[in-house]
Amino acid sequence: MEILWKSLKAYLKHLRLLGLEEIPIQAPLFEPQDELERLLAQVQKCKSCALHKTRKRPVLGEGNPKALLMFIGEAPGAEEDEQGRPFVGKAGELLTRMIKAMGLNREEFYITNLIKCRPPNNRNPKPEEIEACKPFLLKQLEIIKPKLLCTLGSFAAQSLLGVQEKISSLRGKVLKWQGIILIPTFHPAFLLRNPSYKKFAWEDLKRLMAEYRRLKAEKPQAPPQC
Ligand code: SF4
Repeated sequence: MEILWKSLKAYLKHLRLLGLEEIPIQAPLFEPQDELERLLAQVQKCKSCALHKTRKRPVLGEGNPKALLMFIGEAPGAEEDEQGRPFVGKAGELLTRMIKAMGLNREEFYITNLIKCRPPNNRNPKPEEIEACKPFLLKQLEIIKPKLLCTLGSFAAQSLLGVQEKISSLRGKVLKWQGIILIPTFHPAFLLRNPSYKKFAWEDLKRLMAEYRRLKAEKPQAPPQC
């Protein structure tokens, strides 16, 4: 250790003689993808609520780690629990079709859920489970920094906005959460059970796409390469 210290001292002295007054030290910068992978490792070890006992695979989320738009559902279902991916069951297929109907691909966005482990028999998440898991969602929002949120179903909108209203009264509006535009709509699983509500979801998605295109047009473009 002493030899190492002496060599370092000699090297710094040498740099000083060469006229170097200070050495800039830059904190390491992490890409959002790396940060999300670290978060996934934490979620996989998490035992903060009882759902860790019954889950097969926790589901953090997937998609563009620098997405402008983030979809937030409620909780993984049976298929998601098997695959460790969000929205891959029947409700996920409907969400993918809805995104395609808007002329876009789901890979362009980031998709996640309010809680990361499947509640048994797809029951509603309990308030204590939502509270225990919320830091993971907040961290995802901090990493990805979306400009636009679309919450699916009552729970994600209620949890972020701190309100108790049901999705039927929250939807149809353009809201804000911490300066980010938030458009709530019905959960695709609800739409599968109640197809007559699809027309309302479609209205919400049209509103969402109008905001998305506006924000995309505003995004600063990279300068042309000379
Ligand atoms: Fe942890 Fe969230 Fe899973 Fe509960 S639901 S065990 S808080 S990751």
